Formats: sequence, C-alpha cells, structure tokens
Amino acid sequence: MPERRSAPAERLARYRAKRDFATTSEPRGDEWPAADPPAGDARFVVQRHRARRLHYDLRLEVDGVLVSWAVPKGPTLDPSARRLAVHVEDHPLEYFDFEGVIPSGEYGGGDVIVWDWGHWQLAPGGDDPAAAVAAGSLHVDLFGEKLRGRFALVRRGHQGDKEQWLLVHKHDDAAEEGWDPEAFPRSVKSGRTNDEVKAAPDLLWRSDAPAAEAAVAVARPDGRPAKLPWARALDDTRWPAPTDAELDALDALESAGSWSVDGTSVALSNLDKVLFPARVDAPAVTKRDLIRYHALVAPTMLPYLVDRPVNLHRSPNGVDRPGFWSKALPANAPDWMHRWRNAEADPGETEWYAVLDRPAALVFMANQAALELHPWTSRVTDVHEPTWAFIDIDPGPANDPEDVLTLARLYRTALDHLGVEGRPKVTGKRGVQIWIPVGPGYGFDDTRGWVETVSRAVGATVPDLVSWRWRKDDRSGRARLDFTQNAINRTLVAPFSARPVPGAPVSVTLEWDELDDPELRPDRWTIATVLDRLAAAGDPLRPLIGLDQRLPALS
Ligand code: MN
Repeated sequence: MPERRSAPAERLARYRAKRDFATTSEPRGDEWPAADPPAGDARFVVQRHRARRLHYDLRLEVDGVLVSWAVPKGPTLDPSARRLAVHVEDHPLEYFDFEGVIPSGEYGGGDVIVWDWGHWQLAPGGDDPAAAVAAGSLHVDLFGEKLRGRFALVRRGHQGDKEQWLLVHKHDDAAEEGWDPEAFPRSVKSGRTNDEVKAAPDLLWRSDAPAAEAAVAVARPDGRPAKLPWARALDDTRWPAPTDAELDALDALESAGSWSVDGTSVALSNLDKVLFPARVDAPAVTKRDLIRYHALVAPTMLPYLVDRPVNLHRSPNGVDRPGFWSKALPANAPDWMHRWRNAEADPGETEWYAVLDRPAALVFMANQAALELHPWTSRVTDVHEPTWAFIDIDPGPANDPEDVLTLARLYRTALDHLGVEGRPKVTGKRGVQIWIPVGPGYGFDDTRGWVETVSRAVGATVPDLVSWRWRKDDRSGRARLDFTQNAINRTLVAPFSARPVPGAPVSVTLEWDELDDPELRPDRWTIATVLDRLAAAGDPLRPLIGLDQRLPALS
C-alpha cells in the first residue's frame, strides 16, 4: 500500500508509534476520554464508495481484519437517525486506506475515497469485540476526524443472506441534530472528492489479486490526454447547489415572485403551470419543479454550458403544445446574464446569444420554459474550434431500442480499438450519442470527417440497421449515424437537460458498461429521478471535459 500522505495520517502514525493501547494505561490527553483502556489497538475507516449505489463502508479493525458494514445513507452524528447498516464480508487490512477506482465489471466497481479514519474502542462494559459482533450488539466510541462519540451497532434481522443492522449515534457531547455526511464530501486522506479521485485515480483495486498486491498504481502511458487549462477551472466547487433555505424560499413563493439563488435574484412567474404532463411512470412537472431541478443540477450541468453560446428550445405553453427554437438572447434577459455577439452573423441571423455561467442563469431559462438547452460544441474564445466531436445515433421508426444500443456498442469497440476517450449519453428520447473530447487545433471539417469515417466503418458491419440517406423519408425507417452535427452552430442536447415530452425525461451520461444493462432505455431517467442517479454514480463524462485529446489518423 502507498504511504499515507496527509497531515492527519502523520498525526495518526506518530500517535500509534508512541502508544500501544493494548498494554498501556497511561492517560491519553485531551483528545481521548478518560475511560478504561480499549480492548485492542483498533483503527476504523469509513470509505465513501460509489458503486452501482452510493454507500459508506464502515470498517473496524478487529483481530487482524476489517469487520465491515455498508451504510447506504452514511453514518451520522444525528442521534435521532437510525441508519441501515448491512453487515458485509470482512476486508483485509490492506484495504484500510485504499482510495481509488475499482474497475467496472469487478465486484464493487466504482470509486472509493477514505472519507474518515481514526481509532475506535469498545464502550465501557464491553471486552470482546469479536464476541459482540457475533452476538449482534456492539457499542463503540469513534475518534475520527469527522465521526466522534458513541455509536451503537445492533443486528435487527436478515434479508437473504445479509445481516441487517442499525447504526445509531448515542446522545452525547459529539451528537449533532441534522448532521449530514454528504455535507463533508472530501477525503481525509487526500482532500479530494469522489469525482476528483475518479477523474485521476492514483490506485486501482484488483479484487482478483491477493490483498497485498491488489492495490496497483494507475499506469499513465505517455501521451494520455491531459486537461486543458480552461477545463481545470471547472472543479466541483465552482458552482454551489442551492441551500435548503433557498429551496424552502422557492416552495414558499405563490404563483410568482423573486427568488434568490447563490446571491442572484431572478423574477419568476406562473410557477404552478404544468409544463410536462405526467407519463405512466413519471408525475406531471410544473415550472416550479423545473426551476428547482435547474438549480439542483447546476453544479453538474454548468461545466457543459459555461463559455459557450447556447441554443434554446422553449415550450411556454407546455410540452404538449408546439414549442419553438430560439437562439437569441431573450429580450428580457437580466443585466447579469452573460452574452456573446456573433460578429459573423449574416443579416437576419441571430447576433446575440446567452452564455449560461451561474445557477441563476439556469433558473432564468427554466422560468422562460427554455427547458431544452443546446450548448455549442465550441467556446466563445474561438467558435471555429470544436472541443467535442459528436456521434449521434438517431434511430428511425423501424429500429427497436436494442438496435440503438447495438450501434452504440459497436462504436465502443471502435473507440477502444483506436484508443480514443469518449462516453455515451442517452438523449432522453430514443437516441444515444457519444461525446469525444478533442484538443485545440481541430476545425469542424476535421471532427466531421473523422466521425464520418468511423461511422461508415461501424455502419458497414450492420447495413440492415443503418441508412445513409439524408431525407428521413428515404431511410426506410432505419437509423442515421449523423456526423453532420459536427459543424458550427449545430448542437446536441446538453447532458442533464430535460426533453420536451411528457414525464420530463433527461439526457444522461453513462459509463460504457451501462450499455450492457438490460434495464437501460434512452428515456430511463427523468428530472424526478436523475438527481439520485447523480448522487450514486456521478457524471461519467465530466472527467473528459476539456481533455487535450488528439484523434488518431484513420486510413
Ligand atoms: Mn462498498
């Protein structure tokens, strides 16, 4: 395992070097309560693990292994909260400070940070932790950097072969009502978030290897694309999510009023108007719901929008009535709204575009019922240089959903073979896209030509699924692999934008292996469900924003 690097780790190491709790009875100083000596020299760790579902793994060192529970909602200092804790298999000690990525496809595939660590001891009265675990009742004091005070772990029953326990914080000096682990998202080992570790992991965990060799350094072969300077500024703290107080204030508005989010006030109107009628599996969505969604998704969505002109699809009368495209900055846009002037606009062409660069800008657009957002492929600093190459799998009426996924998997194979980084994205309707970051120096002719060459190779392997005819009527209902979107002012729907159809489905970025998920549908997620997915799985495309990637020559 690697050296621990952070100051807390050094403190801990010094502490451990000086004391042996199994034998000492010396007073422990201010940080440690005057209590009976613990039964063992015992560390604990909590890892925040984003696998298929987000959970926190609480592990106590007992008799040379890490006795472990998976806590879906995470541990809390709130004594009124009772948290489910699923007892899982013991982990090797080598896993104690693992932080990195478990490859997808392996058990627990996802990203892991060391969310908290420290020491633990049995509460007074206990003397044998292994026996307490076996008996299903364990009371421990935790001395971590985040978790403090007395916790009870009590077995409540079984589900399948899993033991279900409850984790409860006792009423003591460390207890704190309403304490939320998600408010403290950074690693105590590295200071990084799960997103940051996922984007640049130092370690992979190979569960097929012996524990002592399972943590392997991530190889970064020369030539692997680095982030461009503009993309490095798009870290996850640049835009805050709305506070609970801000969300309460939105709910408290009547049908109209002024709402302040992240310090900027936006005038809102017709808040209870239904914009999206319900569909079978999703409720109706009002304008207030869309505004709340835009504010909540802003930290995730703005990295795709900032510094780019945006084309808008507006549905002011609801999505069951015809909407319209609007490229122009709305006439009533507030002064703080960033804007960009297209100096090359021909007479009659749109000259002024909105540039969305803060949560309030997304809120303003929701109030305009501009519910589908299409950022340009290029940035305002040079609109002739795309930063993304797009593959757009546009199904025809004769294609079934599986055809689209088949095509997307063929692209996966092709890009993998070429060593090109990209990620798939469901459109929220029927299609799938693949977004490929490209570095500076490419023009649209380059990206369009490259995508066309790859697409013709993919299409040639499944000629019965694909048509190259331009006109929809000529395609016999087959899919189009549309490389022509790689052009200035031709755009695809932004990640996490809603689509103007009932139920408010959302375009969502995916990991490649999700294309093999039998549950996957391009309209699987809605604005009511996608935030849970983001909390659990993050945004797989985000680490690729602004990669300085070169497209390999194709012959
Ligand atoms: Mn886990």
